Amino acid sequence: MIKSIENKVLTNKRLSSSEALWLFENCPENKLKQLASFERDKQHAANKATYLVMSIINFTNVCVALCDYCSFYVLPRDKKGYLLSFDEICRRVDELIHFGGSIVSFNSGFNPKLNISFYQKLFSKIHEKYPQLTFFEMTIAEFMFACQISKMTYNEGAKALKACGTQWITGGGAEILEEKFRQQHSPRKYTVKEYFSAQKAILDSGINSTATMVIGFGESIEQRVQHLETLRHFQDSNERKLPSFLCWTYKPYGNLLGGQEIGNNEYCRWLAVCRLYLDNFKHIRTSVLTKNEEALYGLSYGANDFDLPTEDEVTEKAGATISHDFEAILSSCKEIGFEPVRREPF
Ligand code: SF4
Repeated sequence: MIKSIENKVLTNKRLSSSEALWLFENCPENKLKQLASFERDKQHAANKATYLVMSIINFTNVCVALCDYCSFYVLPRDKKGYLLSFDEICRRVDELIHFGGSIVSFNSGFNPKLNISFYQKLFSKIHEKYPQLTFFEMTIAEFMFACQISKMTYNEGAKALKACGTQWITGGGAEILEEKFRQQHSPRKYTVKEYFSAQKAILDSGINSTATMVIGFGESIEQRVQHLETLRHFQDSNERKLPSFLCWTYKPYGNLLGGQEIGNNEYCRWLAVCRLYLDNFKHIRTSVLTKNEEALYGLSYGANDFDLPTEDEVTEKAGATISHDFEAILSSCKEIGFEPVRREPF
């Protein structure tokens, strides 16, 4: 098997799903790194990695989706529920500017009080106050819920947001795009088909989007490969409009599902498979947010880019620790053999 896979990689031929599965389970470590790095270096400078500083602001923790892997949400009548004021959101954006950051990502929950009109007003004010920053304004999952409670189609919702200046709605809320997984862990968070129909409406409106994945919930490798297969097909059918793919790892603390966090070697092997299988994605991103400096080993397994996050309550509640010692993280990057190069938002 390895000979025919190697031959495909060297001659730019597409890998099959069964080959992706085989690579993850059987490929010798050095060979996997070598193949993923070969593929990476076709598109990116060898021994360089790009990064940016960003914050993830969670402006409400109220959510009715009840995902069993979530450590962040509270239900609508819970006294611990909050919705940040505009001033508090600005205070956090200012903090990011202080850190030299360039992107703010808003990521919250399915709050039944927040419809498309709420988001339009909030985002318009934010754009006016911070024209120099890039905003990732919602995840696809939040967008779908906001459309639902606003009684709008995804096309109508996307057009309304585009009209108020929204540039990005990220591919967050994907986790594992496989129906059985979603039915088991997040039945209120829409089907795979619905997810992609919302993402298509977003792209068709002229708003940009990204591809994401989270692994380590106890899903099977077949379910992970299914996620990649559906995503690769979507990207083919949509003029390769998604610029990047980011894979996080599940943090198991403080939620119903619990479990054990996956090790870094498993994460890196999976990144290598993503680089080799997702031949229609340019940027494969490794997750400092959930794996800290260890994530940088992913650069030797095909990843080419990473974030330095300044805050994200969602993952911090689940056990993530965020370091603001960016110099130390960038030094680790150099020690692993990659020169970190700061980049602008895509
Ligand atoms: S993961 Fe997101 S959608 Fe699911 S319960 Fe948590 S906040 Fe809500």
